[in-house]
Amino acid sequence: MNALVLKEYGKLACEEVPMPECRPWEVLVAVKACGICGSDVHGMDGSTRRRRPPIIMGHEAAGVIAVAGADAKGWNPGDRVTFDSTIYCGVCAFCRRGQVNLCDDRRVLGVSCEEYRQPGAFAEFVAVPHRILYRLPDNLPFEQAALVEPFTIAFHAVRRTVATLNDTAVVVGCGMIGLTLVQAARLAGYGRIVAVDVAPEKLALAASLGATDILNSAKVDAAREILGLTGGVGADQAFEAVGVGATVDLAIRCARKGGAVTLVGNVTPQVQLPLQVVVTRELSLYGSCASAGEYAACLAMMSRGAIDAKPLLSATAPLAEGAAWFDRLYRKEPGLLKVVLKP
Ligand SMILES: [Zn+2]
Ligand SMILES: [Zn+2]
Repeated sequence: MNALVLKEYGKLACEEVPMPECRPWEVLVAVKACGICGSDVHGMDGSTRRRRPPIIMGHEAAGVIAVAGADAKGWNPGDRVTFDSTIYCGVCAFCRRGQVNLCDDRRVLGVSCEEYRQPGAFAEFVAVPHRILYRLPDNLPFEQAALVEPFTIAFHAVRRTVATLNDTAVVVGCGMIGLTLVQAARLAGYGRIVAVDVAPEKLALAASLGATDILNSAKVDAAREILGLTGGVGADQAFEAVGVGATVDLAIRCARKGGAVTLVGNVTPQVQLPLQVVVTRELSLYGSCASAGEYAACLAMMSRGAIDAKPLLSATAPLAEGAAWFDRLYRKEPGLLKVVLKP
């Protein structure tokens, strides 16, 4: 089969590789669409140490079952499916509690790190355990279904955060996750959603997707503006969707006393924390990782148009053009959000 392989750091090539084997508990999915995630783009240069070559990346995918293993009961060739980006074991203490994102034996598709190597979906076929499959609604095209994963991350973060009806939320960072967070916050009943970024086109998109206020933090003192918008109190909750020092700092400084900050972004492993602000203002800090059970709901919401992936989809391209699109994303071409490759 054809696959887009990270041959060495910074070098992708579309080439012939052996078909993955399909073990009894697995299905072989003929991939119809697979989104390029920011973590793939950040990972391809070796900086995150989670894309060790050679590896087929890709964990945001949708397709059609080509082969169903003998134990994959209820799944058949021809079924239109998507799957969790995380393979979980289903039997450890965390899985049994429903916290599948914290599974002791967690493996993310398309990731190779110190502990494991799991081929991903930038390929004609990918093998996944039937446990992580979800059936696609008939009206949901593959390219949009491939974008369900970022929405599950956003809804998981919103569910992690204790909020009251009509609260004010700040979303720091309007990339893919920030823009799905804006939509999730709108559905969760937030009264005011303040989106912060430095790119005017992303802020405009945030406004069209439900942000009530937008702030360009390159131009204004965002923390002060948020105080102004909230009568000097601060936001009830802040969602951080970048993961660098300046944005974590902003998220913490714009929260009201007794408020909460939910940390989703993690492009850097460590940041400085304004400790005294967190302690003296009694802030709650939540970490939020991937998702745990939000897929079916997100697919249903996409199907009926309650959440919209279309404005986030910048381009679709054949797998053979993958290296060029990775390059454009790596160089941070303005206006590019999600690019979906079609094997
Ligand atoms: Zn991702
Ligand atoms: Zn487990």
